[in-house]
Amino acid sequence: MTVRLSLLNGGRTELTNPQLDELRAMFHGPLVTREDPGYDESRAVQNGMFDRHPGLIVRCSGAADVIDAVRLARERDLLVAVRSGGHGIAGHSVSDDALMIDLSAMRGVWTNPAERTVRVQGGATLADVDRESQAFGLAVPGGVMSTTGVAGLTLGGGLGWLHRKYGLTCDNLIAAEVVTADGHLVRASGTENAELFWALRGGGGNFGVVTAFEFQAHPVGPTVMFGCAMYAAADANEILPAWRDWTAGLPDEVTSRVMLWSMPATPLLPREVHNRDVLIVAAVHAGSPDDGAPALRPVGRFGTPLADLSGPASFRDVQRSLDFMFPKGQLRSYWKSVTLNELGDDVLDVVLRRGLHRPHPRTLVHAPQLGGAVRRMGPADTAFGDRSAAYIVSIDGNWTDAAEDAATMHWVRDAFHEVQRVPSAAGTYLNFGGDRELDSATRQAAFGRNLDRLARIKRDFDPENRFRLNNNIQPR
Ligand SMILES: Cc1cc2nc3c(=O)[nH]c(=O)nc-3n(C[C@H](O)[C@H](O)[C@H](O)COP(=O)(O)OP(=O)(O)OC[C@H]3O[C@@H](n4cnc5c(N)ncnc54)[C@H](O)[C@@H]3O)c2cc1C
Repeated sequence: MTVRLSLLNGGRTELTNPQLDELRAMFHGPLVTREDPGYDESRAVQNGMFDRHPGLIVRCSGAADVIDAVRLARERDLLVAVRSGGHGIAGHSVSDDALMIDLSAMRGVWTNPAERTVRVQGGATLADVDRESQAFGLAVPGGVMSTTGVAGLTLGGGLGWLHRKYGLTCDNLIAAEVVTADGHLVRASGTENAELFWALRGGGGNFGVVTAFEFQAHPVGPTVMFGCAMYAAADANEILPAWRDWTAGLPDEVTSRVMLWSMPATPLLPREVHNRDVLIVAAVHAGSPDDGAPALRPVGRFGTPLADLSGPASFRDVQRSLDFMFPKGQLRSYWKSVTLNELGDDVLDVVLRRGLHRPHPRTLVHAPQLGGAVRRMGPADTAFGDRSAAYIVSIDGNWTDAAEDAATMHWVRDAFHEVQRVPSAAGTYLNFGGDRELDSATRQAAFGRNLDRLARIKRDFDPENRFRLNNNIQPR
């Protein structure tokens, strides 16, 4: 048996059995080829669109395996895909014939309650972090789905239930350990490799493989006030403007979002919403439940909800509350998002029209509020770029049948362009982006003036663009 692998220059190479045996003796974690049991499981990612076949998967057990995998890629000039949680919408983390550096077995998390810091291995999920940090009444701001990988989320920004109080996930990064393209592990923080550290906070997977993250954590939970009211979608024309006006005066403790979606018939949800098109108004208060209760009371009072699930909830349950809507590998997904300086009636008009006529029940139109701590960082403070936007509208195409790929992707692009045309449209959030190749306008919209600096840092740390299966920034 031989293993076929893509080269960086587009050519092909092969590894013979004796070469593989030699590698197997070197790596601590298993090497998985097409012939090995577990290959299909190891190459599976969240987005069911990507049925790709890497040439070789290195299931890394620690930083040493990552170092050797990057050195192997360098010696043989291999194309590399880096996978952690496997949630990337664009499917960059799995690629045909690539060397897949898979960190999903590196999920250790250690909390230091005295310092309020959390050290996280590169393949951990948000659920892993919540488990270990909530035991000490601490939280690292993450995303809204507990199965998402910390790595991709952090490197691209990180929006969730706490961002208005404590900032993006990347804003809470204190340090990272990174295997750069030359196969060496370096530490990046405010005082070590500071340019690399700047780039890791929003610049994506361009600069190397992160084997460990260190985060600042904050006292949150274990019980928080959760607001979640489900209204009939037909009432959205009245509720959306009322929600928008309410969010304008919210304290930073509250992070809120709306979603136009369809609810499945599942025992996890009240019967009143089974198979119904709904407008979900959701919010979390980052303080005590006593303070949160009055602050979130309006969530269920914008009209008459079909169901109001609001109440005190464990923070970990809130973090897991949407997981059931995204069973791994079962949905095909293509998302695009626009950041907006305000949510004018022109935007709400598009949100409504599109949200009420979605191509598939699992497709949603999702609008989180930004502002608060996100906005308090300057555009050049991290690679993430401009923070002035007040909201995001994300058109999240999710469907099940491959025959509907073209039509649904077309619908998502069309809706995205409609939002993009309103005068308050500002940029885009790449973590909510489904395009494998970024066009230059999208890259510019995401990084703005930070792009030149990112390109220089890319040149310093990855001059050959070895790490190119990502929201790619060319070295310059
Ligand atoms: C169902 C769902 C819900 C989501 N919810 C949110 C949300 O609430 N908030 C939000 O901000 N985003 C959200 N996202 C988007 C998510 O943040 C991005 O898709 C992110 O890239 C996922 O990271 P991952 O590690 O799971 O993905 P992967 O697919 O494993 O990786 C994605 C990319 O990140 C890079 N990467 C991954 N690991 C490493 C590493 N260790 N070192 C260097 N580079 C690496 C690589 O370029 C890789 O291609 C969601 C996505 C999905 C599918």
